[in-house]
Amino acid sequence: MNHPENWLAIRPEGLYCIPGDFFIDPLRPVPRAIITHAHSDHARPGHGAVLATAETLALMRVRMGAGLAATSLQPIAPGETLTMNSVKIAIQPAGHVLGSAQIAMEFEASRAVVSGDYKRAADPTCAPFVPIPCDVFVTEATFGLPVFTHPPALLEVAKLLQNLALFPERTHLIGCYALGKTQRVIALLRELGYDKPIYLHGALIPVCEAYTRLGIDLGTLLPATGASQAELAGAIVMAPPSALADRWSRRLADPVSALASGWMRVRQRAKARGIELPLIISDHADWPELLQTIHDVGAPEIWVTHGAEEALIHEAAKRGYRGRALRLIGYGEAAEEEAA
Ligand SMILES: [Zn+2]
Ligand SMILES: [Zn+2]
Repeated sequence: MNHPENWLAIRPEGLYCIPGDFFIDPLRPVPRAIITHAHSDHARPGHGAVLATAETLALMRVRMGAGLAATSLQPIAPGETLTMNSVKIAIQPAGHVLGSAQIAMEFEASRAVVSGDYKRAADPTCAPFVPIPCDVFVTEATFGLPVFTHPPALLEVAKLLQNLALFPERTHLIGCYALGKTQRVIALLRELGYDKPIYLHGALIPVCEAYTRLGIDLGTLLPATGASQAELAGAIVMAPPSALADRWSRRLADPVSALASGWMRVRQRAKARGIELPLIISDHADWPELLQTIHDVGAPEIWVTHGAEEALIHEAAKRGYRGRALRLIGYGEAAEEEAA
């Protein structure tokens, strides 16, 4: 077998497959890219050609529009395989957001899997993570510390509904990242039987519409802009986290501000942002899920792209796995941090 360290390289543009001549989630424009999912730190504009799931391509179109003009787009679905030069490529769902995929590459009898961002917890808005046996597993470690254990998301959303029952006259303003978190929280609210209209900040509307077009039912959604204060009293309003503290939210009557993020596990973060109702809901694997996944894929070697790599590599070593920190700069930046 030809070990992946001989044919996967870290270049300034990102992770590069040498015999395949393509990058995965490159940080700068490249001729050929495979994109794991549509979050802005992974899917950047300006590539010559992009291979991704149909859902990821659709979401990239929504977010980038003209930024994709010169890019040739090729869809790939789970279960399909194709060969780029001499590298066999296949994908499986990553369970992170709609369309998110892990990329499996096979070359000279060895297989490396790049998981992108992923989680193992159930999510009604995307297909669940499928472990792919491999020789090298490339993982994130956003929540790679033992303190990070995410409670079931459904319980967190139930907390929101309990709070709404306690304060039926107050607007409940939920800070959620636009791609993935917003739609997951809405879908969980629907799962718990909340069937009233949910109001959206304008920044969240295009991605919600795209999810609906792609077959994810989110129920009745209305724009918050233009709705009266009286109409929004006792309603659920979703907005990007940045809008919680800005002028936009000041027109709401006595709002309860909530934020859905894995970082809400850290009380100080919620306090510092003035969050009254922290909701620990993450689209990234928590510490037990990271370790479970390393076990499930059975790779003797783990490469960590970003996050708390030291702790994860240390723990993996104790369990007999070789670890390597790739220290890819540019993932998990500010915007994505809110997505976590
Ligand atoms: Zn992501
Ligand atoms: Zn990311």
